[in-house]
Amino acid sequence: MNSPVIRLNDGYEIPQLGFGVWQVPNAGAAAAVTAAIDAGYRLIDTAAAYRNEEGVGDAIAASPVGRDALFITTKLANPDQGYESTLRAFDASMKLLRIEKLDLYLIHWQAVHRGAYLDTWKAFVKLRDEGRIASIGVSNFTVPNLERLRDETGVMPSVNQIELHPRFQQKALRAYHAKAGIATESWSPLGQGSLIDDPQLAAIGRKYGKTAAQVILRWHLDLGLIAIPKSVTPARIVENFDLFDFRLSEEDIAAIDKLDRPDGRIGPDPEVFG
Ligand code: NAD
Repeated sequence: MNSPVIRLNDGYEIPQLGFGVWQVPNAGAAAAVTAAIDAGYRLIDTAAAYRNEEGVGDAIAASPVGRDALFITTKLANPDQGYESTLRAFDASMKLLRIEKLDLYLIHWQAVHRGAYLDTWKAFVKLRDEGRIASIGVSNFTVPNLERLRDETGVMPSVNQIELHPRFQQKALRAYHAKAGIATESWSPLGQGSLIDDPQLAAIGRKYGKTAAQVILRWHLDLGLIAIPKSVTPARIVENFDLFDFRLSEEDIAAIDKLDRPDGRIGPDPEVFG
């Protein structure tokens, strides 16, 4: 079965469930991405900083489904922020991925102390206007910086990819995104695996004949989010895509809602990182 899609503010569609490859070594990336494509994933989420774009490119080249059926995301690394350096970094990523056009390019972190995200965004807009990228977005951005991009360029990002999982639900930022027409993409959707052992999630899963991982990912989909779980284990890659034959009840969504914690963040704080 195919993933449902979400329509972005630029008219393009993005699959709601994708495959992330952070911490997958370049040498293992082709096998992992190939297993994901075989399981039905079409959205692949990499980044220059992951140093595995070449391995991802190998899987794209060998893919039985063809380039146009895939949705490829990569991200600009923090040290490459700036107008000219972004144009150069984009070319380098495309050379490794070996594709003609990118589906989604993200500024990996706002990295405010570098003072360069606005010039970076101007280069993104140019690459999009030239037809080299379909959709442009950001990752780990806060509201004032999203608004600055829009106010200075007239282009609001299509996507903000942020840390989001049941223990860190980002309710305020999600509400802002909904008003501003920005799609929310959840990184570390499984809390980097830390939520899998939660007994409450396992108990919810038993009602549907599903695992805790499947319950968490279904929660992202039921909230209208885009989720990009990572695994290199073929059985888990398949398990994490086997979500389209159930939906969580309102009662179960309300129970998961209560797992949100003010200190639930696992990754770096976007206000200071980068
Ligand atoms: P995740 O939440 O997807 O968890 C992955 C880990 O969970 C795996 O390594 C494995 O240990 C475990 N796991 C996965 N499936 C499982 C299953 N079915 N059963 C039991 N355990 C399972 O964590 P992640 O890799 O940090 O995040 C996913 C993707 O998000 C990354 O690969 C990357 O593409 C993206 N990401 C982006 C940023 C960013 O700054 N934009 C930061 C982190 C991650």
